[in-house]
Amino acid sequence: MSISPYTINHIADLLNIASFKKAQDAVIRKLVIDSRTVIDPDGSLFFALSGKRDGHEYLADAYANGIRSFVISDARYAERYPDANILLVKDVLFALQTLAKYNRKLYDLEVLGITGSNGKTIVKEWLYQLLAADFNIIRSPKSFNSQIGVPLSVWEIGADHTLGIFEAGISKNNEMDVLADIIQPTIGILTNVGEAHAEGFSSQTEKLHEKLKLFKNTALFIYAPEYTEGVHKNDLPGQQHFSWSFKEKADLQILFIEPIDGRNYVRAKFKGHEIECLIPFSDKASVENGIICWATLLALGYTPEEADERLEKLTRVSMRLELKNGINNCSIIDDSYSADISSLAIALDFLNIQNQHPKRTLILSDISETGKSNEVLYTEIASLLKQKEVDRLIGVGPHIMASAALFDLETTFFENTQGFIESFPAMHFSNETILVKGARKFEFERISKLIAQKVHDTVLEVDLNALAGNLQFYRSKLAPGVKVMAMVKAFSYGSGSFEIANLLQYHKVDYLAVAYADEGIALRKAGIKMPILVMSPEPSAFDAIVRFKLEPELYNLEILKSFISFVPEFDYPVHLKIDTGMHRLGFEEPDLPALLKALSETKKVKVASVFSHLVGSEEGMHDEFTKYQITLFNTVANAIGNVLDYKFIKHISNTSGVSRHPDAQLDMVRIGIGLYGFDAGLKNNKGLQTVAVLKTTITQVKQIKPNETVGYGRKGWLPDGGTIATVKIGYADGYSRAFGNGVGNMLIKGKLVPTVGVICMDMCMLDVTGLDVKTGDEVIVFNDQLTISRLAEQIGTIPYEILTNVSQRVKRVYFYE
Ligand SMILES: *Cc1c(COP(=O)(O)O)cnc(C)c1O
Repeated sequence: MSISPYTINHIADLLNIASFKKAQDAVIRKLVIDSRTVIDPDGSLFFALSGKRDGHEYLADAYANGIRSFVISDARYAERYPDANILLVKDVLFALQTLAKYNRKLYDLEVLGITGSNGKTIVKEWLYQLLAADFNIIRSPKSFNSQIGVPLSVWEIGADHTLGIFEAGISKNNEMDVLADIIQPTIGILTNVGEAHAEGFSSQTEKLHEKLKLFKNTALFIYAPEYTEGVHKNDLPGQQHFSWSFKEKADLQILFIEPIDGRNYVRAKFKGHEIECLIPFSDKASVENGIICWATLLALGYTPEEADERLEKLTRVSMRLELKNGINNCSIIDDSYSADISSLAIALDFLNIQNQHPKRTLILSDISETGKSNEVLYTEIASLLKQKEVDRLIGVGPHIMASAALFDLETTFFENTQGFIESFPAMHFSNETILVKGARKFEFERISKLIAQKVHDTVLEVDLNALAGNLQFYRSKLAPGVKVMAMVKAFSYGSGSFEIANLLQYHKVDYLAVAYADEGIALRKAGIKMPILVMSPEPSAFDAIVRFKLEPELYNLEILKSFISFVPEFDYPVHLKIDTGMHRLGFEEPDLPALLKALSETKKVKVASVFSHLVGSEEGMHDEFTKYQITLFNTVANAIGNVLDYKFIKHISNTSGVSRHPDAQLDMVRIGIGLYGFDAGLKNNKGLQTVAVLKTTITQVKQIKPNETVGYGRKGWLPDGGTIATVKIGYADGYSRAFGNGVGNMLIKGKLVPTVGVICMDMCMLDVTGLDVKTGDEVIVFNDQLTISRLAEQIGTIPYEILTNVSQRVKRVYFYE
């Protein structure tokens, strides 16, 4: 938060505004671009940024959330909110960047600017860990490194900060100058230059030169010559340089790296001496990131001993929130990222998205926020908790405990984590959502362990960000105004239920669709308020459908009439299914006269939509038939439109319809499998992200002799003998028997291993001959490398079946960044 508060007048002066309609005085503390995540509405200035969607569409939401100061570029919106401050500018993004640039110039502090293809966020977070003892650090939250993320981060610099650490990311040419002007780094760090994002550039050289622009005015530039090939040393940016290298003479020349016990011991030459450090990670990327941090510490003047001591204590950076089931029907959100205010706000937003239980509890440790007194800090936190409607706070640590009086909600405090654990048996958690957020040293994993359900060894990990990304992917293909119905039938294609529905509700899809009334009822009970279509509404469920405000699909005269005679009120929303070729459910053309007659004779139901389903939208060979279906559908829908005196939504397209038949979008599209990361209509799923990863573990490892067999029926056999691993997944978990006898394979430590023998109900065996594996090792059944498409091919089915087969006894764990 900017320490010198900006008045709305001051901001108006700073921007080159076309007009300023002032309605009230305001002090601006926060710049906001997302109308859904508002912490401090009175002190917020909302920017109507236009990306895939026009940001002005969100003004109403932002206004409803209490914001009264807006920067807009579309004059038509200027008069809409008479009591709001409206700053009309030509370019909203430019305005945001201008404010950040101005704020940066106010402060004379050391700023580390980081860019590179990989590792930016990790290096930033690690440098924060390494330097926090000596500086009041302001850094980019999460991986805020874009044209929007950078200004939002830099705006937060205040008078108390003594060091800034900001990352910059670019995806095409000519983007860096703007970021460099905002960050104005005094020290530059180039992590590495790889293939990522190469598409926005005509060559590697062009990409490198673009990245180097960040460092043009730095006093010190830290880099590896292997990543600046083609640029002469004299042409590198920065007044002074500090180099590190695996290959050649450098200020820090790496001599060798030796793995010991999951860590890496690194030896290097520095100022003519051999020095060493221990990087507490085993993977290659972490070692490189660790070395970049090492080089930075040395370049900043830390002694090799001090640097080694600090590096050894680095901890893993996980920006993911984990949502899992807890004891007594609780839901647990586990956040081990870091305990500062901005990450707390992010986690509380997630708590709000996942409004699974009416009661929300936060278990929070002391927060480390440099540059603020306890009183200021905990007052801010208290108001945050009020805003986010947290019902109960359990505070752990002396500082939060001492601030007890500031909190206006149900509270309990403990001096330390051990105190919590001792009182745990008497605490009675049930039917609530619990956010667990603690700084590292409080070891809150001990608390998570107590309240989380024991996670079975086979889990389906669902990446909610990837799902949101896939939704965005399809949205970007839609013509303006086309609505989205998200298909969440069959436990959201196996991925979960209300967790996914909550996310979709948050992302403002227009409709959800389920197969059966029961599924809809479960969503309503979990707090889903948006319209829900039920595709197979059996008459015995009509009562529940009406009670829970679900909207039935009516597919023939009989069910239409029985619903009309059942429904007590007028204008109950219903959806008419037209059969245009699937020959499953739906009215056919000859039914039309009777359908139209029935509709014109009743006022009890109101047709919310008319729809049909494509039978082969993903395949070119069916394109003719798809066209025929669309034409027939339009004819029928228009005939219905002619007898009704109101408008209704028309829709026919499913996932592959969106990717392959832009003319079939009509008023709404229904997206199913695409959200979960698959689309047979896209080559190699290009543009989609993997949502679900199925993992299991090794239970036992055995040596097999050439004459021995494996499993039921003696079907498994290793001709030369070898090693097998038994893993905890079988056909009752959804791993089909068809994968047996080497048809299927799994990934262990990145290596593909085949099945041996038949798949059992709860287990199966893998041939791991020659691999170094042990009990407890992780085994991937499917992920982004071993894809569901590939598994489907192996056993002659489709990805839909692989996903939906994962049985309900396999625990789902959700991740969110
Ligand atoms: C399941 C379903 C969809 C979604 O199809 P995808 O191919 O998964 O996108 C659309 N419409 C209807 C009627 C469905 O039953």
